[in-house]
Amino acid sequence: MGHLTNRDITIIGAGVAGLTAALALAQRGARVQVHERAGALREVGAGLQISPNAGRVLDALGLSAALDAVSARSEGVVLHDSHGRQVAAMPLAAHRPGQPFRFIHRARLVEVLEQAARAAGADIILNAEVTELPESPLLIGADGLHSRVRSALNGAETPFFTGQTAWRALIPDTAPDPFARVFMGPGRHLVSYPLGAGLRNLVAVIERPDWTAEGWSHEDDPAHLRAAFARFGGPVPGWLAQVDRVGVWGLFRHQIAARWQDDRRVILGDAVHPTLPFMAQGAVMAIEDAWILTECLDRIADQPAALARYQALRAPRVARVIQAANANARNYHLSGPARLIGHTGLRAMSKLAPGALLGKFDWIYDYDPLAEKVA
Ligand SMILES: Cc1cc2nc3c(=O)[nH]c(=O)nc-3n(C[C@H](O)[C@H](O)[C@H](O)COP(=O)(O)OP(=O)(O)OC[C@H]3O[C@@H](n4cnc5c(N)ncnc54)[C@H](O)[C@@H]3O)c2cc1C
Repeated sequence: MGHLTNRDITIIGAGVAGLTAALALAQRGARVQVHERAGALREVGAGLQISPNAGRVLDALGLSAALDAVSARSEGVVLHDSHGRQVAAMPLAAHRPGQPFRFIHRARLVEVLEQAARAAGADIILNAEVTELPESPLLIGADGLHSRVRSALNGAETPFFTGQTAWRALIPDTAPDPFARVFMGPGRHLVSYPLGAGLRNLVAVIERPDWTAEGWSHEDDPAHLRAAFARFGGPVPGWLAQVDRVGVWGLFRHQIAARWQDDRRVILGDAVHPTLPFMAQGAVMAIEDAWILTECLDRIADQPAALARYQALRAPRVARVIQAANANARNYHLSGPARLIGHTGLRAMSKLAPGALLGKFDWIYDYDPLAEKVA
């Protein structure tokens, strides 16, 4: 331990990956400078789910109390059909006492990370778009989708459109409810959960062959969202009636980068492995990456060896998580006989063998980045 003291490190991007890395590295004594193109870390984006595998990292970074103040506790996930009838329940938190699942607005998480990183001594420069990669003893690309550092290491990438488009919206939360609720219909599904502070998050996905751009700042007419989910029942119509602003984004599949690092450059988070949102692990994987990268740099004196170790530790796990998210995309959208069989099977499993259903994703949530044998 201790190889980070007084090391100069430049990070591109002050999203979840860049800020978590900045905080973790600064806490170990590195001199960190972060360049962010946005003029302010604004209220764009909506909800994120933070499961215990990332919660362990945030706790080790000293953020649990700050996060508790600005997030809502999640009890787990309930699956419904499109009429609102319950198909299966996964009370994930009861299964893991003392290990919080959190719902949080992305802007609140970014704020907590930014304040802590600055307090730990990181220099965060806003309005600082990087157009040419700077010379730095270590350059960390946390620059998200369309990462320049990824391109420098791997060349251009052509993601493919999955044929799915997602809307996200925030509405006032009148009835706090500690579950993420998924409503599944043929070719479409809608996920909703509370965010605390009187807000509820909605994400609605449909299969649609026409093109929607990939990105976080495209707006759409709420009438399009309401029309696409007009046949849904339960609480969905009431929620959709309250939507007055909606963002839309096309879901693209990206290859995981083949090269994550060279001797003095490395990438993490969405810059390496953007994921579809169906396991709610995008921000969580970025947080795990930031911790493991920090540990490798702190424990392994030789920088190229540390960076190679980071990729070796992370690549198999993120590949498995991304595969699980891709599989959920199919499962949520079943139609016809497959839907009947799928939902009947889930109902039976939920009643007769709830442990089996609950345990399906233990490997995601019970993973402890702090216990990883880095060196
Ligand atoms: C504005 C925004 C809103 C989002 N909203 C949601 C949401 O509602 N729900 C959800 O599940 N996920 C959302 N995400 C994605 C989610 O935050 C990420 O999937 C996950 O947290 C991994 O984060 P990341 O830090 O790797 O990438 P990102 O969160 O994309 O962060 C990358 C950062 O790098 C900056 N950057 C990129 N290029 C440059 C450059 N050349 N120079 C300087 N800075 C640069 C970007 O401005 C951004 O701040 C959003 C992302 C963004 C950027």
